[in-house]
Amino acid sequence: MSLSVKEILNIGRRQLEESDIADAAVDCKLLYCYLMNISSAQLILEYQKVLPDSLCDEYFSLLDRRSLGVPLQYITGSQEFMGLDFIVNEHVLIPRQDTETMVEDAISVIRENQLRGQEMPIKKKREYEVLDLCCGSGAIGLSIASLCPNTKVVCSDISRDALDVARRNAEKLGVSKKVSFECGNLLMPFKGRFRNRKFDMIISNPPYIKTGVIPTLQREVRDYEPMGALDGGADGLDFYRNIAGDAPDCLKKDGVLFLEIGYDQREAVEELMEKTGRLDHIRGFKDLAGLDRIVTAVLAGKKKG
Ligand code: GLN
Repeated sequence: MSLSVKEILNIGRRQLEESDIADAAVDCKLLYCYLMNISSAQLILEYQKVLPDSLCDEYFSLLDRRSLGVPLQYITGSQEFMGLDFIVNEHVLIPRQDTETMVEDAISVIRENQLRGQEMPIKKKREYEVLDLCCGSGAIGLSIASLCPNTKVVCSDISRDALDVARRNAEKLGVSKKVSFECGNLLMPFKGRFRNRKFDMIISNPPYIKTGVIPTLQREVRDYEPMGALDGGADGLDFYRNIAGDAPDCLKKDGVLFLEIGYDQREAVEELMEKTGRLDHIRGFKDLAGLDRIVTAVLAGKKKG
């Protein structure tokens, strides 16, 4: 065959375009970089190189998977989040940039006791025990563990396959000693008379897409990302109902709850928190795109709990 890198990239781009892949021009290059284990900068120096047939075949089989709609990150097995490199596979949601906003907010609370420039209405704590609920790849909890020395983190998920990925990520990031893992449904592993574990912070990006909206999602998401990480029930609020009900029992005094939400869920989630009668300072925040993305609350110290 004897194709140059430039030629196979052109073939790649065209094939991806024909398969309606949105970022065809970028993805054809990233697949090549992944195959050759080189950076995008190094790629520029390789355009004239002629590839042996065996490598062309490997490249084309990666291309075929991407053409079917398999997300690039499941092919390369990684996604950058908060400047850290996370292992991902089909058992975990691919970490989104939208979620970085919530992690930055959580880190600002942990480091400075501030949220978006305002002092938190709680005492500054020296150590933080953090629970990343529905952790998936561990992107949220492990970023916090990596970037905040004064934290101990529990990553929990109902999926054992997801927890395997999170465990591997903890090792890769060198934070295994300060992170533990729990398998179970939402706060079930932590509440109740005998367990009764309490945290300084509970942070979660639970499934929140309305079941009826799922068929309309982008092919990559709908056909390849784990449905269990996306489907929030008929009104998308199933997980918030459950978390709002149980979180007050699993937060320490002055504990903070951080929830990622869909762009149209702020009022409903705030209301669920209000209804508990035990959460204070309920506030919503936007992401970088200006969409409602986060709801936070604090466990009122003086009330029962
Ligand atoms: N933000 C994700 C999406 O739109 C959904 C994440 C979730 O349900 N937690 O695909």
